[in-house]
Amino acid sequence: MSAPLALADVQAIGTELAIRWRDGRESFLPLEALRRNCPCALCQGESTATTTYSPKRKDYSPESFVVRSIQPVGGYALQIIWADGHATGLYPYSYLLSLGEESPPPR
Ligand SMILES: [Zn+2]
Repeated sequence: MSAPLALADVQAIGTELAIRWRDGRESFLPLEALRRNCPCALCQGESTATTTYSPKRKDYSPESFVVRSIQPVGGYALQIIWADGHATGLYPYSYLLSLGEESPPPR
């Protein structure tokens, strides 16, 4: 098991979130991909034993992909507050790291 991830620095640069980890790794995450992969229940839907809730299709605006502020939460996640007001997404560090390591599919 590796050491827990710790954040050294995070900032939104242009259309990317740039993260520097304490162990020296860096992640560059397109903001649009981050928002589309928002892990909150509103965006991803929830399943329970009896029902499956599917999220409504999102109507994103340009502001949906602009970061208003970023708050570390509990030493394990980032809360991203988007310019359109959406703020319920908590992005665990491990999730951010895995997103950053995936290369985007060719378009
Ligand atoms: Zn969300």
